[in-house]
Amino acid sequence: SAPISESLKRVKPSATIAVTSKARELKAAGHDVIGLGAGEPDFDTPDNIKAAAIAAINAGHTKYTAVDGIPELKKAICAKFKRDNELDYVPSQVTVAPGGKPIIFNAFAATLNPGDEVVVPTPYWVSYPDMAIMCGATPVFAEAKASDNYKLKPEALAAAITPKTKWLLLNSPSNPSGAAYTREELRALGEVLIANPHVWVLTDDMYEHLVYDGFEFTTIAQVCPELYDRTLTMNGVSKSYAMTGWRIGYAAGPADLIKAMGNVMTQTTSNACSISQYASVEALNGPQDFIAERNKVFAERRDMMVELLNDCSGILKCPKPEGAFYVYPSCEGAIGKTSKGGKLIESDQDFAAALLEEEMVAVVHGEAFGLSPAFRISYATSTEALQEAGHRIKRFCAGLK
Ligand code: PLP
Repeated sequence: SAPISESLKRVKPSATIAVTSKARELKAAGHDVIGLGAGEPDFDTPDNIKAAAIAAINAGHTKYTAVDGIPELKKAICAKFKRDNELDYVPSQVTVAPGGKPIIFNAFAATLNPGDEVVVPTPYWVSYPDMAIMCGATPVFAEAKASDNYKLKPEALAAAITPKTKWLLLNSPSNPSGAAYTREELRALGEVLIANPHVWVLTDDMYEHLVYDGFEFTTIAQVCPELYDRTLTMNGVSKSYAMTGWRIGYAAGPADLIKAMGNVMTQTTSNACSISQYASVEALNGPQDFIAERNKVFAERRDMMVELLNDCSGILKCPKPEGAFYVYPSCEGAIGKTSKGGKLIESDQDFAAALLEEEMVAVVHGEAFGLSPAFRISYATSTEALQEAGHRIKRFCAGLK
């Protein structure tokens, strides 16, 4: 058998990918499965972005580039941070990687030593703790309670910080809860960090543009300029521009950290895809108005799902989130009950498994995101499919005894 490392043995495979595979299997076997596990917009990449990629190919931009990004893209990223976030960065403070995921990994690989701790609010995006573990560090969890609409309270953050804390990971709007912090809420968390000068903050702003009802997105370095010198502001084109397959993520922060992250890339991935980088220049510099149009659709679906879920015989409780394309209902009301198919529901994993088996609806159980009992629904799928899924979930809940 392969000589798997001790650190990788502690890493669990992504639960979201496991659910997607199971749903795909059932579908292939002829079942009418509704998959609500996907973490990507169901919209297509806009045409102007595709055209920029084709132009890049025709212009011969098909070779290695500067390891941490072409100058045109770094310039577009600096302009984006200024325009959207009131943040001043110069190109030497900017890095580009093959996705948002490697940005986080590179930051961890560049900074974490054995024994270091990374504070991860729960529910968290599945990869944060495992990336910290792969880099030899220990994730420390801080609960963002359902009763607080899944937003971390300053006291919970303060309690999670120790002398060993190196990073706090913030993610707003959040995968899996969709919760986004207001300017005041972020400022309050920032005050805790200001009082703890040894802690750096990595803010994952991947869902920045997916906010609804006029919500004002802000990011921590913007609302707490005091933290600018120890903040890594991360973003990417995957979610906002429906470009998950293009693999472009980026970040800005102190130049010495950015340089160290580039060093990780020189010995691992090298540059992100040259063609995707040119396409991303167009994504960031080109028209942005399609985002608002798509957000209207997302907001309608969110409202519909929240309403459907809160109307499930009192079994589910679902806060209405500010952004992303996820909702995260608590299924505490189902625990201890038995499904129509005879399955005793003892955990959110049992709930999700029975829902898939008996009603062919695939959701991701909350345990995978570190906050139970709950589950994640992605509403990045057609309104018709969501309606039908809501109907099936309701029937499933009504059948619990
Ligand atoms: N951060 C969050 C919160 C995400 O949900 C995702 C994707 O699911 C990523 C980062 C990764 O983005 P990318 O596909 O660009 O690596």
